[in-house]
Amino acid sequence: MFKTTPGHEKEYRKKVKELDVTYYTPFHKIKGYMNGKSPKEIIDYFERLNECTCGGEPKVMQIGGMGELDTHIICKQCGRGICQSIYDRESGDDPGCEELALRKWNEGMTQEEIRRIKEEKWEKKRLHEEDLIWKPVHPNNMPCNGTEGLYCLLFRKDEDKIYCCKWTIQYQLKEIEPMGVSTHSPVEAYILHMKRYFDVKGPLKYPKPNNHCEIGLAREDRPTLHNDDINDYGHFIRAYKTLEEAKEGALARCGWQRLNRETVINRR
Ligand SMILES: [Zn+2]
Repeated sequence: MFKTTPGHEKEYRKKVKELDVTYYTPFHKIKGYMNGKSPKEIIDYFERLNECTCGGEPKVMQIGGMGELDTHIICKQCGRGICQSIYDRESGDDPGCEELALRKWNEGMTQEEIRRIKEEKWEKKRLHEEDLIWKPVHPNNMPCNGTEGLYCLLFRKDEDKIYCCKWTIQYQLKEIEPMGVSTHSPVEAYILHMKRYFDVKGPLKYPKPNNHCEIGLAREDRPTLHNDDINDYGHFIRAYKTLEEAKEGALARCGWQRLNRETVINRR
């Protein structure tokens, strides 16, 4: 015999249609629906939703698709609105965006307050100029080879592995003639590169620069950060006119790699 899935009984399906809730996908608009919720769960959600601080009634809109999901709660009277996306979850323990939105709505917050609090939090935890320690790049890690630029290593734990991002700023010297530069040539560009290591083995730094050519260790015994590796800058990111801009460029790109004051280890 046909059995209704719990929460989808006729009474709930009827009642949910009276609620002002709409789910939008790039191609559809579904009234009376919320992502992953049964009609009964949507009714419960609305029961927990307070009226607006102005006394007005809220409406709920969800916009989904392509793995994204935003929940909007908007007052139909004064227009106060809250929007929370899947990216507003700060940890794995945080509930979904519809619960975060409900919580903030019931606290009477505005989107502007949410934005300001988020910025203040980020400002406290983001890396600052002094957190990036730049060291000279000597080819093969031998000072007698001169200085080709600067590098900076940043580490964070990634489950039981150590993730590293290496920024290198390469000095591009002005050519006197094609392929001709001298050590006196001025620097004409500061070129930022990035190399990422997903499982660092051995010390979290390069060996001390040394002018003696060492007999190389067997490839499999080498730590991840060995003398020759210093020559490998990784991918080109961008060329800058000044060293300060190149350093700022590296700093600004740390956030999206989850490198911040709470995650970075061994900051020296
Ligand atoms: Zn209102």
